[in-house]
Amino acid sequence: MNKITELEKLRLEMEEDKKLPLQESNLVFGEGNPDCEVLFIGEAPGFNEDVQKRPFVGRAGQLLRKNIRDLGWGEGDVYITNIVKRRPPENRDPNEEEIEKYKPYLARQIEIISPKIVVPLGRFSMNYFLPLAKITRDQGKLFDVNGHFILPMLHPAAALRGNEAMKTFEDTFLKLPAVLEKIKSGKFGEVKPEQVQKQQKLEDVQSRLF
Ligand code: URA
Repeated sequence: MNKITELEKLRLEMEEDKKLPLQESNLVFGEGNPDCEVLFIGEAPGFNEDVQKRPFVGRAGQLLRKNIRDLGWGEGDVYITNIVKRRPPENRDPNEEEIEKYKPYLARQIEIISPKIVVPLGRFSMNYFLPLAKITRDQGKLFDVNGHFILPMLHPAAALRGNEAMKTFEDTFLKLPAVLEKIKSGKFGEVKPEQVQKQQKLEDVQSRLF
């Protein structure tokens, strides 16, 4: 089965899973090239995303998509999705239970796409991979979590709230192509997953990665 077929199968399973929370809103599964190297993962759809059934199409999404284009990448070079795939009411933060229930689907989505690097956008998405990490301290650092390279970034909505956050967001974005090239060249291959299982050790590993 190719990736497009596998993802479509997963999407249909999600549509049919009436036990998933937030059934009153639309499923926003994700979009992009399943053969991409870079997977962006946000928090949950908002109003515009729910209406259009597409991730990151509001103001924050436009900023994300502009930064992708500014790297000279097309939208076919990436895939964009969220941890929780239906909109929480009033755009509230997704809760623990919602994140837990959507987790198995996200895990399968990541496995099918198998990107070279995952970019969590914002605290919720980052903490899915790195429960002890702090967004302001750890955004822009590369982590190896069980063999997956993770580069957390500020959420684009946070970048829109202040000049300094915008600069941080854009600076980290600009690092992405070079980090990706290093990963592809195998330069980070010597970092063994077991060395980074414990988050206490992440700081040591980071200094080896950059
Ligand atoms: N914020 C998110 O985290 N995801 C979206 O899809 C839109 C806004």
